[in-house]
Amino acid sequence: MSKTLTKNITGEDLFKNVISHAKEYGFIFPSSEIYDGLSAVYDYGQLGIELKKNIREYWWKAMVQMNQNIVGIDAAIFMHPTTWKASGHIDAFNDPLIDNKDSKKRYRADVLIEDYVNKVLSKADKEIAKARERFGEAFDESQFKSTNARVIEYLAKADEINNRFKEAMDNNNLAEVKKIIEDLEIVCPLSGSKNWTEVRQFNLMFCTEMGSTAEGASTIYLRPETAQGIFVNFLNVQKSGRMKIPFGIAQTGKAFRNEIVARQFIFRMREFEQMEMQFFVRPGEELKWYEHWKEARMKWHLSLGFGASKYRYHDHLKLAHYANAACDIEFDFPFGFKELEGIHSRTDFDLRSHEQYSGKKLQYFDPEINQSYVPYVVETSVGLDRLFLAILSSAYQEQELEDGSTRVVLNIPPILAPYKVAILPLTKKDGLPEKAEMIRNDLKFDFNCQYDEKDAIGKRYRRQDAIGTPFCITVDHQSLEDDTVTIRYRETMIQERVSISKLTAILQSELSIKKLLGEGV
Ligand code: ATP
Repeated sequence: MSKTLTKNITGEDLFKNVISHAKEYGFIFPSSEIYDGLSAVYDYGQLGIELKKNIREYWWKAMVQMNQNIVGIDAAIFMHPTTWKASGHIDAFNDPLIDNKDSKKRYRADVLIEDYVNKVLSKADKEIAKARERFGEAFDESQFKSTNARVIEYLAKADEINNRFKEAMDNNNLAEVKKIIEDLEIVCPLSGSKNWTEVRQFNLMFCTEMGSTAEGASTIYLRPETAQGIFVNFLNVQKSGRMKIPFGIAQTGKAFRNEIVARQFIFRMREFEQMEMQFFVRPGEELKWYEHWKEARMKWHLSLGFGASKYRYHDHLKLAHYANAACDIEFDFPFGFKELEGIHSRTDFDLRSHEQYSGKKLQYFDPEINQSYVPYVVETSVGLDRLFLAILSSAYQEQELEDGSTRVVLNIPPILAPYKVAILPLTKKDGLPEKAEMIRNDLKFDFNCQYDEKDAIGKRYRRQDAIGTPFCITVDHQSLEDDTVTIRYRETMIQERVSISKLTAILQSELSIKKLLGEGV
């Protein structure tokens, strides 16, 4: 195996390189780019769509097809407007926004405060890291946290701000939110000034009209989450599928939010895709299931192989109006740890509220306890685009090779890679393209293959590395004589000579979902 040196590119540099790589190779383009784009809206290109589809399928496999008691649906984006009254989105799906009068920039007040708290917490983290280095093996983190004066002070300060903010939001006291920003002396990152407007609430739902005005058009919302399509179909699925509690309904699909501060590429978009699962349980058992899904979802993320240090839980202090427990799985994006997935114990809030607004009973008769009840719900909700960004930014590497050349490689988990295999005749003559074409025609039923005969072989390997193709099959003159080819592995660049008749079995074993998911996910 050749020695390679992976460059240590992180933070903003990594983010910039990932964004330009995504565009250069057809993963992601700005929407309507010829008109200078549309803020926080992106299009997936020819490779992006393959990667996105594979991520969605991997989730669907693990969540729906591998779970006997979870089924999927595909509800419409348009829903009866009363849905959003019942769900609380019309009245409460707001973000507190604040403008800086000097830069004219708009911010989410909660994000300004959260960023401040994170800075305080990272000071505590630095102290802890220093002490860990100093004490080595003997280091006791919990003891250090409870005795070191500086760390105690930082943690207390973070707690105090969080509690003050939570109370202000619970009481809808926007003047107090502004006061917190002033007291903390938070400045606008752009102008550096503390010249803030009042804090206002801003509803994030997009609306449009359905029907012509002559008929009396009604206001329709573009769904801000896919979950409600599941709730309103709860009884349809339960009855038609003869589902027994506990059971889940999953769905993937577009959601729309008029985000105030839409930046960070596909991390925060105005049109995005969610993959959600609502798990219906007996009242009183929801926290047990909440813990179950918290663990199961983390296990699923870890199966992608990017390492445990990339993930962490963040338990919510400020619970949404419908939740009695909630946490995020955060991911270490190039711009720091941010929410990737939310896991929420939503109580019976949604079903009960839909009962009230629709006048229809949304109850389940539980034969085991001979009782009817409105089920409680545990939700897992992950953003497909955020997952895409997490995968792309962790897979992207620039490497210096032993021979002094460099390569950009996307170490995407093979099962998610856009193309699984590239078939490359060594030269364009002597019958090699025909042989390669025969191999492609055999493999294409099971694997997404790419055929490439242009340029020198080294250059073609680089092209496949850059788009994350895990296996390259090279057809050479020996192939014509003994029906063998070389298979080259993207990560290690090792090449092996194998018989053509074994290719399907080798690829199937390398791309086994069973190996990745193992048991219990
Ligand atoms: P945030 O706090 O980052 O705004 P959220 O808590 O509002 O996110 P949820 O309502 O819990 O997000 O939505 C579930 C998941 O949907 C999130 O974990 C995220 O992965 C994804 N998501 C939410 N908003 C967006 C967005 N604007 N763009 C891309 N993905 C999003």
